Amino acid sequence: MRIVLLGPPGSGKGTQAARLIERHGIAHLSTGDMLRSAVAAKTPVGLRAAEIMERGDLVPDDVVIGVISDRIGQPDCANGFVLDGFPRTVAQAEGLSALLQVKDLELDAVVELTVDEEALLARIEGRARETGGAARADDNPETVKRRLDVYRRETAPVADYYRERGELQSVDGMLPIDDVTAQIDGALSAPQTGKFAGTSG
Ligand code: AMP
Repeated sequence: MRIVLLGPPGSGKGTQAARLIERHGIAHLSTGDMLRSAVAAKTPVGLRAAEIMERGDLVPDDVVIGVISDRIGQPDCANGFVLDGFPRTVAQAEGLSALLQVKDLELDAVVELTVDEEALLARIEGRARETGGAARADDNPETVKRRLDVYRRETAPVADYYRERGELQSVDGMLPIDDVTAQIDGALSAPQTGKFAGTSG
């Protein structure tokens, strides 16, 4: 099973991805986690990404597409994967389509977690407080606002990209965590218009 999980920072993608990998025995591919590891290990990708991430901006498309391309060929992805935090631009979505096509693979579902932005800011600020503010360099109010702006500008069009293909399924990310999980399960078992009926919309 190959799933894309879309949603702004703080929408609960990471939590839901963790549940999906457990239930379906698939790999969790979080470009944010991979980039943070690269930063910690001071790899060439990490050195390039550190400052960009701290600002709340996006790492260049070619870098993240390269990271994902290497990753989805690895053995733990044979059963499938959840993409968490990728694609974040339309160019990345197109890059992903091209990558999958070369490998003769398809996505099974694209699920968007929709949220209320004000509640989201409060949630992220709460997360920063809970962790003493030190867990993530980019979880401070200023950078969070920047990340939300970037999401609106660069990533919201990715949802449109999949919607136009009839592949997007939306779930209310403001529901309690278990209810969101239940809705995602429902989305995964529901046929997608684009894929099964060949229509878009
Ligand atoms: P996340 O943990 O998904 O919120 O990602 C943390 C940061 O990593 C983001 O604010 C970006 O700077 C960077 N990042 C993660 N995924 C991507 C991506 N797909 N494209 C560009 N930058 C990314």
